Amino acid sequence: MQGIYIHIPFCHRKCGYCDFNSYARLDALVAPFVDALHREIEQSPYAGAHFDTVFFGGGTPTYLDGATLAGILEHLTRRFAIPSDAEITCEANPGSVSLEQLRTLRQAGFNRLSFGVQSFHPDELRRMERIHTPEEVVQSVAWARAAGFTNLNLDLIFALPQQTLERWAASLQQAIALQPEHLSLYALMLEPNTRFYHLYQKGKLRLPDDETQVAMYRLAQQRTAQAGYQQYEISNYALPGYECQHNLVYWRNAPYLGFGPGAVSYMEGRRWTNIKHPREYIRRVQAGEPLELEWERLTGWDAVAETLMLGLRMRAGVDLAVLETRFGLPIRAHYAPVLGQLTQRDWLERDGDIIRLTDKGLLWHSEVALAFFEK
Ligand code: SF4
Repeated sequence: MQGIYIHIPFCHRKCGYCDFNSYARLDALVAPFVDALHREIEQSPYAGAHFDTVFFGGGTPTYLDGATLAGILEHLTRRFAIPSDAEITCEANPGSVSLEQLRTLRQAGFNRLSFGVQSFHPDELRRMERIHTPEEVVQSVAWARAAGFTNLNLDLIFALPQQTLERWAASLQQAIALQPEHLSLYALMLEPNTRFYHLYQKGKLRLPDDETQVAMYRLAQQRTAQAGYQQYEISNYALPGYECQHNLVYWRNAPYLGFGPGAVSYMEGRRWTNIKHPREYIRRVQAGEPLELEWERLTGWDAVAETLMLGLRMRAGVDLAVLETRFGLPIRAHYAPVLGQLTQRDWLERDGDIIRLTDKGLLWHSEVALAFFEK
């Protein structure tokens, strides 16, 4: 499996918690950006390569009109071998979509939408500086269905400032009531260089305590299971057959090709990141200069540890025998002491050659991953 990622860096407003490579008030750059993106796609040395998934993320891809997004997808399908049944996702902001735009996307071949919902409480949305309302979420989902989308994801965030377990339960219930095929339910992360982070540093952001955050996570697991969703990754839940194929590419540490400012690629064991700011990205494309900001080659035990870190996010876990064949290294013997310690702590369970996080271990993924890197 291999995937293509397209980064659209524009947003209507910068949300208080967001550290993504996204920018507000850069309207003047939209047209040159689209032109530069087409040029980057045209110049890719991987022309003709096969890809199973395409993901338009951001930023806010739906900041661009339907025809522009359709044009980019059409260019990708001309340039690369993308089968007709490939999963093709577009992230969408419920505050910036229209029925007409979604119809254009569906007709162009997009077959999955991922809506950034985050909460169904107007005050929480305002605090996060989101541009949409709960009513617009309901409307967007109805439009997506009317446009013919049968594979929808809703993103929600819990452990928000001042959020109680009851308020999280209410948001979750409303999300499930819309019957999306997929739910991504993440805990709020305080990232440096965000408004939320600075407020927290000054003692002006009241977050739920650790115990409440764990209760919120467990509630998400219970409510989704009751509604027929399977948790297939630490923070992701799907109706059977609707797991996000593009994210599975990342979690399997499989190859992917990224286009656009800040986009990351991982091909033939080499990982590189494009220059981040759209203005500099456009300038470099126009000047014919390299776009890489940084790169590294993932080899040996570093590549194994990275693959374990990502793979253990999936509830299906990782098959160590398969990894030994992939990397040609004695993984089982090398990690035997670490595996013993992690199993003893009840963070990891072993089923023959397959290892996976336990229910308890789901809360300790970072520590588990660290143990493999430190070996
Ligand atoms: S819409 Fe998404 S990408 Fe844009 S600022 Fe908000 S969280 Fe960040």
